Amino acid sequence: VYNFNPGPSPIPAPVLKKAKEEMFNYENSGMAVMEMSHRSPLYEKIHYQAINQLKELLSVPDDYEVLFLQGGASLQFAMVALNFLPENKEAAYVLTGSWSEKAAKEAQTLGNVTTLATSESNQFKHIPEVDLSKVTEKTAYIHLTSNNTIYGTQWSSFPKEPAVPVIIDMSSDILSRSIPWNDVDMIYAGAQKNAGMSGVTIVIMKKSLLESANDKLPPSLSYKQHASKDSLYNTPPTAAIYITSLVTDWIKGLGGVEEMQRLAKQKADLIYSVIDGSSGFYTGHAEPEARSKMNITFKLTNENLEKEFLTQAKNTGFIGLNGHRSVGGCRVSTYNAVPLNHVEKLKSFMETFMKKNA
Ligand code: PLP
Repeated sequence: VYNFNPGPSPIPAPVLKKAKEEMFNYENSGMAVMEMSHRSPLYEKIHYQAINQLKELLSVPDDYEVLFLQGGASLQFAMVALNFLPENKEAAYVLTGSWSEKAAKEAQTLGNVTTLATSESNQFKHIPEVDLSKVTEKTAYIHLTSNNTIYGTQWSSFPKEPAVPVIIDMSSDILSRSIPWNDVDMIYAGAQKNAGMSGVTIVIMKKSLLESANDKLPPSLSYKQHASKDSLYNTPPTAAIYITSLVTDWIKGLGGVEEMQRLAKQKADLIYSVIDGSSGFYTGHAEPEARSKMNITFKLTNENLEKEFLTQAKNTGFIGLNGHRSVGGCRVSTYNAVPLNHVEKLKSFMETFMKKNA
């Protein structure tokens, strides 16, 4: 099938093949990866390999820590506030869609939250301007969502030289773009779109930010605790981390994040070119300058045809093209593992459908 699922999403075919070959008798240990002790040298090798390759691929500076946590990106919504939002401060959230709203909502249950900028009044079709002069001494951190999986918008660059830490949810575009660490203090991402399978959440943060974290938390919710144990405080999701290590191998073999970035643009452009050349048959949701290179959202201008489009697409083997249930329409998720030729096939399907029905 042609899998365009928004998440969990395709795993690169060579990764699945390698996992099939070695996962169930890892390095002739007679054990599957998920049967090995997380304290064994064999597992530790996988663990540190995954950390080191993420550091290499994302050019993570030495003064940053890479953590593997559980609970999905959603638990980070709460952990960020638990660790970095003291009572006398407020956290500034940029609202660009459902996930950033959820992040803000979870933080609100734990402390003071303000909206630094929002594109809600425009149905989240653009990325709002951030006025850094609104950041005050009371601001604990700025939180934003680099790619808005549901609305199909993406930040092309991040606020420059902010006076407070910037924390970014990169769940749907990690490993598809480089990260300007000078202006970014922490990122987090569930692995299940671009970095492997669900079960592990990648967190990368500046050590100085980590040092400022609340240390009166239950240890399992404390970044300091997880960092001090190299993410081996409790049993980590070993199989998911193993898959992430294979995904990082695969990306490295293809030429790294730069190549993922190039491919992401190439794939997204194929679909956007159909939308733009369709004389209004397909209508894109995002404003052109805010278009995501990971999730392309559009609708059929003739609503009656949309159901037919999705049904025919499904019958042709295209999976996961329905828009998120909260917004409807269609969504094409072109994450790293989606092959270029699958996107080309979808492009011609969209063109043929248009020709027959316009
Ligand atoms: N943030 C973004 C940008 C997402 O796309 C998603 C899931 O799709 C989440 C957070 C939630 O992730 P999880 O299901 O790992 O909690």
